[in-house]
Amino acid sequence: MQKKAQMEKLYEKLVNASDAPLFAYRKGNNYVPVIGEGSLDASIVMIGEAPGKKEAMTGKPFCGASGKMLDLLLGHINLKRENIYITNIVKDRPENNRDPKSFEIEWYAPYLRKQLEIIQPKVVVTLGRFSMNFIMKEYGNEEIMPRISEAHGNEYSITLLGNNIAFVPLYHPAFGLYNGSKREVLMKDFEVLRNFL
Ligand code: URA
Repeated sequence: MQKKAQMEKLYEKLVNASDAPLFAYRKGNNYVPVIGEGSLDASIVMIGEAPGKKEAMTGKPFCGASGKMLDLLLGHINLKRENIYITNIVKDRPENNRDPKSFEIEWYAPYLRKQLEIIQPKVVVTLGRFSMNFIMKEYGNEEIMPRISEAHGNEYSITLLGNNIAFVPLYHPAFGLYNGSKREVLMKDFEVLRNFL
């Protein structure tokens, strides 16, 4: 099956997944799940945490305040959104933007696994500690589980579908929203991605 058809099928499954932990909250608020957006032939896949309110209202990842910061960071390295694929580990908005719970991450994980299988990226970039921990545990060396304060902006190797590919954990763009020095750290870290452009 073509990549587009596979992703559409996955989205249909997600839309109808009434057993999803955040399904009732989604329906009660007229939200939609956010599967992801971008090129299915991208060599870079970026994985955030979970949709915020604006994302859950529109179905588009990173279209609110964090998205504006992400655009700034992508612009800094001349990387266009349409040339990468952007998704989240949790596909529905948690109430009041709380942190995703472990069982929610587990529940939505098969969707992310399938997306990585469809796209087959050469570089996985995580935004924030939740997606970082998931990727390290799932595809990395379990003995190397640094904290994000040590890992951000470094390049690791992970095994995806039998191939060694690059993994770059970054801080979540929201980290740079209200603090200029944190924004500087994010800008510097994003420059690592220039190695893959
Ligand atoms: N934060 C995320 O982690 N993902 C989004 O899509 C929006 C905000």
